[in-house]
Amino acid sequence: MADKRDYYEVLGVDRSASDDEIKKAYRQCAKKYHPDLHPGDKTAEENFKEVNEAYEVLSDAQKKARYDQFGHAGVDPNYNAGQGGFSGGFGDFDFGDLGDIFGSFFGGGARRANPNAPRKGRDTSARITISFEEAAFGCKKTVSTTKIDACKECGGSGAEKGHSPTVCPVCHGSGQVTAAQRTPFGIMQTQHACDKCGGTGKVIDHPCKNCSGKGRIRKTSQLEINIPAGIDDGQAFRVRGAGDAGINGGPAGDLIINVNVRPHPVFERDGYDVWCEMPITYAQAALGAEIIVPTLDGKVKYTVHEGTQPGDVFKLSGKGITRLGQSGRGNQYVKMTIEIPKSLSSDQKKLIKELDESMADANYKKRKSFFEKFKDIFKD
Ligand SMILES: [Zn+2]
Ligand SMILES: [Zn+2]
Repeated sequence: MADKRDYYEVLGVDRSASDDEIKKAYRQCAKKYHPDLHPGDKTAEENFKEVNEAYEVLSDAQKKARYDQFGHAGVDPNYNAGQGGFSGGFGDFDFGDLGDIFGSFFGGGARRANPNAPRKGRDTSARITISFEEAAFGCKKTVSTTKIDACKECGGSGAEKGHSPTVCPVCHGSGQVTAAQRTPFGIMQTQHACDKCGGTGKVIDHPCKNCSGKGRIRKTSQLEINIPAGIDDGQAFRVRGAGDAGINGGPAGDLIINVNVRPHPVFERDGYDVWCEMPITYAQAALGAEIIVPTLDGKVKYTVHEGTQPGDVFKLSGKGITRLGQSGRGNQYVKMTIEIPKSLSSDQKKLIKELDESMADANYKKRKSFFEKFKDIFKD
């Protein structure tokens, strides 16, 4: 999830969709991603959570109205979802907080993290496609990443230059307010997060214009990445600290790079070994020959011995792929295939016929032993 998707988009419905349409769309999506149907599939699990979160909001008339008006900020529990009032400056979704939302939606109970506690930034992700050779030896690539960073203008405080956040006048900085509530057991004192400041104890009267008081800003940048040698198609690796900035002094998240490797026209990869098929002629196979074999390091000479058979495999030690995170390389295996000519002139046909007639059983040991195994069948 590169960022938080629009709830309507998650369920695949229009903004004008009726309650029934939303319900129907939810059922379909929930069925599609249900964890029971995809055991161990992390993507399906994330999708399922996303779908549930979207439905949680869009199926509730009040939440839906707030979402329609304010977007994610309108329904984020960390930003005063209770009364629909917004405190100065903090009226936007905080990307660091997905965990808390999921926690409260999925059995996590009502425990709310201290909004001022340091939190790790979210992991972001990017996908790159590299060539077979680049994967074999490693390479440098520039990727475009979008992440959330502390606003440079206000140094992350969210307050305009010359101003700073002030103590919340409602909760006097505690972030908590006490309320009396009538329950079947009598009047109970309950504590909840202050609506005015969203539980932070601070309000921003003069929000920074660059980040609208959020203290954080989303930006896209180009990052040069070292792709490790030996990485394979479908694998991923982390660039520590290159994800979203941390919150309240917490550490930054990581950037996860998902790698696609383009197939090679000749080489095939098996772990750290490279395989290729090498077509040679009948004469080369029969007489032996010096041939040129392509490798990841360029061409090498190889002597094919006399009497090479189709399917024979020879090994070029250390000509394979660099072992990921280790030293050394795999091997290259070359499988011989013998190409039988398809269109021959009558002279060529005559020569082959003559050659064939000159051969005795002794020239074809395999063939001889094959037929000897079926003596009874072939005796006539
Ligand atoms: Zn700012
Ligand atoms: Zn307050």
